[in-house]
Amino acid sequence: MNKVIYLDNAATTKTRPEVVEAMLPYFSQYYGNPSSVYGFSTPVKQAVEKARETLAASIGAKTNEIYFTAGGSEGDNWAIKAAADAYQDKGRHIITSKIEHHAVLHTCQYLEHHGFQVTYLDVDDKGMVRPEDVKAAIRPDTILITIMFANNEIGTIQPVKEIGRIARDQGILFHTDAVQAYGHVPIQVDEYQIDMLSTSAHKINGPKGIGFLYIRKGVKIRSFVHGGAQERKRRAGTENVPGIVGYGKAAELAMETMEQRAEKERTLRNYLMERIMQEVPFTRINGDCENRLPNNANFAFQFIEGESLLILLDGKGICGSSGSACTSGSLDPSHVLLAIGLPHEIAHGSLRLTLSEENTKEEMDYVVDSVKEIVARLRDMSPLYEDFMKKQ
Ligand SMILES: *Cc1c(COP(=O)(O)O)cnc(C)c1O
Repeated sequence: MNKVIYLDNAATTKTRPEVVEAMLPYFSQYYGNPSSVYGFSTPVKQAVEKARETLAASIGAKTNEIYFTAGGSEGDNWAIKAAADAYQDKGRHIITSKIEHHAVLHTCQYLEHHGFQVTYLDVDDKGMVRPEDVKAAIRPDTILITIMFANNEIGTIQPVKEIGRIARDQGILFHTDAVQAYGHVPIQVDEYQIDMLSTSAHKINGPKGIGFLYIRKGVKIRSFVHGGAQERKRRAGTENVPGIVGYGKAAELAMETMEQRAEKERTLRNYLMERIMQEVPFTRINGDCENRLPNNANFAFQFIEGESLLILLDGKGICGSSGSACTSGSLDPSHVLLAIGLPHEIAHGSLRLTLSEENTKEEMDYVVDSVKEIVARLRDMSPLYEDFMKKQ
């Protein structure tokens, strides 16, 4: 097999051809600045607003509650820093979890250097935040709760509805990083009582470098990028028009196909997990088997290094990940795997495979056969494994 088997859709996805096609006219035909008054810019302005309407409708929001950003990291930074800024008179305490994306964790750490206090909640061994822990962590000076919708490494879907209810009851703002969940599972901001929500196009077959932050009407939030009056004066800079149009198209397709896509991915993912668990000994599944993104599989193979496994899989044309893309290059095991209680040496032997609807059963068979062979080969070279087997 010479072709690439792409199983890293949590890192990024392929931009769908319909999305590329929708974007193309906005480079060299409709290239006017949406802020200009002349008629030449009218279709550009309209395209931006049409995308905004599509995106708003997809989460049950109002059009004027959608603010375009340069992606998920910006949305997370904006929501957290600007809420801290706007609500610091009320208090300087923030609640989050230990398994957030670095865009949230590092933003919280930044705020800690600026006089804020942050509670990083533990999760259970499946990677689930306990709503009662959220409740117990609330203090009179708590101004923000930020808990992700679904985790990017182990796919665990959080009890967002319960957390939203607790936050609303206590009058505390609730932000959720929904970058992994949006377009994959249904999200309604009113039902879940979400005040702010970050998303990113490139995780749902849209282009890279565009996302949106939902900000509920009435939330006091400062502008993030200062300059022109774009995005209701809250995020300056000439709009990324092709990106916005592409995101609108990607979201439209994602919403239309969500159910059947999830079903297809879940079936294939379960097949992959079952075969791996049956055929590769000393393996565990990381994360929750029920409350889990349909395309996410995450394994821990004892006695091996995930990095070596990845390199050898790459040699067979298989793209996977050992932690989050942001941590590869560092030797620390993933903070998410440590938070669910994996010892360092087991966390090091982890492999994340995230599917798309384009994957096939034949590919899964090839992947299982490859993983089996490579894991066995790596274990043969492992002194830990040798010691372990001697003791058996
Ligand atoms: C990918 C990702 C981000 C970052 O989004 P970008 O658009 O790449 O900046 C943030 N949070 C989660 C959960 C992600 O998976």
